[in-house]
Formats: sequence, C-alpha cells, structure tokens
Amino acid sequence: MPEIKKLLIANRGEIALRIHRACQEMGIKTVAVHSTADSDAMHVRLADEAICIGPPAAAESYLKIDRIIAAAEISGADAIHPGYGFLSENAKFAEIVEAHGIIFVGPKPEHIRTMGDKIEAKRTAGALGLPLVPGSDGAISDVEEAKKIAEAAGYPVIIKAASGGGGRGMKVVTNPADLEAQMLQAGSEAKAAFGDATVYLEKYLGNPRHIEVQVFGDGNGNAIHLGERDCSLQRRHQKVLEEAPSPVLSSEERERIGGICAKAMADMGYRGAGTIEFLWENGEFYFIEMNTRLQVEHPVTEAITGLDLVREQIRVAEGHGLTLRQEDVVFRGHAIECRINAEDPRTFAPSPGLVKGYHAPGGMNVRVDSGLYAGYKVPPYYDSMIAKLIVYGTTRQGALRRLRRALEEFVIDGMKTTIPLHQALLDDPEFQKGEYTIKWLEEWLARQD
Ligand code: ADP
Repeated sequence: MPEIKKLLIANRGEIALRIHRACQEMGIKTVAVHSTADSDAMHVRLADEAICIGPPAAAESYLKIDRIIAAAEISGADAIHPGYGFLSENAKFAEIVEAHGIIFVGPKPEHIRTMGDKIEAKRTAGALGLPLVPGSDGAISDVEEAKKIAEAAGYPVIIKAASGGGGRGMKVVTNPADLEAQMLQAGSEAKAAFGDATVYLEKYLGNPRHIEVQVFGDGNGNAIHLGERDCSLQRRHQKVLEEAPSPVLSSEERERIGGICAKAMADMGYRGAGTIEFLWENGEFYFIEMNTRLQVEHPVTEAITGLDLVREQIRVAEGHGLTLRQEDVVFRGHAIECRINAEDPRTFAPSPGLVKGYHAPGGMNVRVDSGLYAGYKVPPYYDSMIAKLIVYGTTRQGALRRLRRALEEFVIDGMKTTIPLHQALLDDPEFQKGEYTIKWLEEWLARQD
C-alpha cells in the first residue's frame, strides 16, 4: 500500500490549514503552494515547504495545473489534496495528477466528471435509486417539449444550467407565457458564465430545506454515510450557517435517506468523501446535486461523529479501507458552524484589510478554523470567508448557548465581519426553534432594515 510521506496542499486559507493539521498529526510532511498575495498566510508559515506559484489572480496561481504539478515534482510530494473550490472538482486535474504518478486525495476522475455535469449527475443519481426533483429527463432545447414537461411537473418551474455552480444561472418560471424567453435567457447566461448553453428544467419547490448527506467510499464497493447537515440558512444560495443533525429529521428518516445514499455510493464504487445534496419538503427528499470533495461545513459532521474527515480522505487515498463500518457510526449531540466573512454584516460589502487585533474563542467544545492572526492582512482577491466557528453541545439548546458565548468572545479588530449577523440570528425565536427554510434568511434580512 502506498504510504503518503509528503502531501502538497493545492489550496489556501482555512482549508489549507485544516489539511496541514491533519497531515502533521499523521506524520506527513506538507508542501504549501501559494500566490504572491499569500506569502504571509498561516498555512504557508506552518507548512514544511512552501512554493510560490504565481501572482494573486487565482487563474494565474491556484488554478494553474502545470505550476502545481511542477511544484509537486520539485518538492517530491507523493500526494495532492485539492481542498474545496479551485481545482477540487476538476476531473482533468485529477487525471493529470494521477498520470504523474501522484496520489490524488479525492474521488476517481470519472466520478468527478459525471457529477460535475448536473444533467449527467441527475441521470446517474436516478439510476442509483436517489429520489429526484420531477422535471426534464436531460437537456431541453425544444420549447414545446419544455412546455409539456413544465405542465406535467406543475408551475412554477426552474431552468438550470447543466454546468452551473455557486447558485448561478437559474431562472424561476411561474407562467407558461414566460417559458420561451426565460429558456433563451438562461441558455445565453449559462453560455457566458460557464461556456455551455445546455439547460434543463425541474419543478421549483416552494419552500424547502437544504439537507445534505455526507458519504464516504473506499473505491472498492464499500461505502457509509455520516448523517446529514442542514444548510438551509442561505443568502443568495450561499450557505451562512450549518448544523448537524438537522432539527427536522428523525433518526428513522436519517437511516432511510442515509442508507439510500450509502448504497448508491457502494454501487458506484465511489472513493473518498462526497456530499449528496437534497432539497427537503413535506418529509420528502429531492436530489439536486453531488459535490465530489470535502465541504466547508464538514466540521459539524466531525463534531457529532468523532471522525476526522481529512484523515479519512488521506487513508482512503492510500488504499486503506474505511475506518468505520456503518454500524460503528454513532451520532452524538449537536454541532453548529458559523461562516465568518470579512464583510459588512448588513450590506455584505467586502471588507478585507489588516487584522489589528485577534482573539479566538476557546473553552470546551469550541473550534475555530481560521488562518487569521494579529498583523495578518486579509487579501482582497479571494473568497471573503476568514474563519469558521464550530461549537458542539450535547443538545441543540446547549450548542446555541455555547455559540452565543463563543461569538461574544471572538475579537477580529480592523475590519467588518459577519459576527454581528450571527449574534442577531441567535436572538431570533424561529431560528432558536429550528424553524427555517432556504427562503427564511433573506426574508429575515429584509425585515432587519
Ligand atoms: P449550484 O450548483 O449552483 O449551487 P444547486 O442545484 O445546488 O446549484 O442549487 C442551489 C440552490 O438553488 C439550492 O440550495 C436551492 O436554494 C435553489 N434551488 C435549486 N433547485 C431548486 C428547485 N428545484 N426548487 C427550489 N429551489 C431550488
């Protein structure tokens, strides 16, 4: 079995640090690759080796496959972990890594490719027995056909880009008269944003929750699920706060949907970590997409299962079997993660800059994943998330109390952050009861003005 001795981290920010930490604990040396804007980043300082791969723009550094491969070869890294975002769901990158005899810490390239095309993903999910949102069976281009499908599914419907991502390229159609214009519009927007005009159509669910299932496969036909995360608190289809377990799911429902997902992954021969995303409405699950990578919100799953997901990814990449059998997975307590962004908490205008003072909360069952330190300058070129605060409690109420206390302790001086937003959310009675859907946060924000 190939043992990983040196791993290159093809990412930046908190996730690069997260991966470095897992490697350190496993006795694996790390190589950080970074842009000129990230020379002072915490993970670059902590890594055993660091190689600058280009200027600030991601297209010239974190997305430059040839420079990353060259860095791996120069440093003698035997594995690459892509983190999330950047090249993590680029099947070609995974293939190139493997073609160089380097271990890719992630799924098989063909599975990344299948799930990266949302039409192909939906078809595969359906064949594997996952419940789907009713809609077109593949791409649609013919308006008359689209009208029939929309009629059968019932209005409103949503037109989505096959190559879409990040919540972009979606059009909700409430009226048959608007269908043609919206289809054309969606197609041309998708072409401009993703280079692919292919669109498909599905029923638009009125007020669902976003519930996703964490899965793990060994690549040899064994797979488990690690329960769900509720990521319904979203702004512009971007997650703001996540919790596990979902406040609305019973253990029977968890076992049922988890079992379906695990079986699908076993049948597929899926390797490594993955997340199967569903919309959930009136007790029913509807598959929307699968992410073939580690997710930002993975720590809430770690908190309630006790499993280190990055360590597990690395072990599976080395060819080991899964650490746990399904019957060994025990869900304990409740965990909540707040994404803390360098943004104005009301206008969400980006607010990067110098961290003048920094104090992270601590104490029992409080975890902060962040590369911040006093004197660090948050560069303006990348995602605005600067920290994740994760708390654990034996009950949801306990976790909420701990979260309030931890947010109170958190000091990030020198820029605006979304800490006050999370504090205000915690005061809301509906949030406290767990009564929210994917629409809830935007409506709540509109009420704050
Ligand atoms: P992306 O890959 O762009 O994130 P997703 O398919 O995951 O796209 O959808 C992102 C979000 O869009 C979902 O979390 C949900 O809020 C909304 N959405 C997507 N499909 C539907 C649908 N059929 N009905 C209602 N909302 C939807």
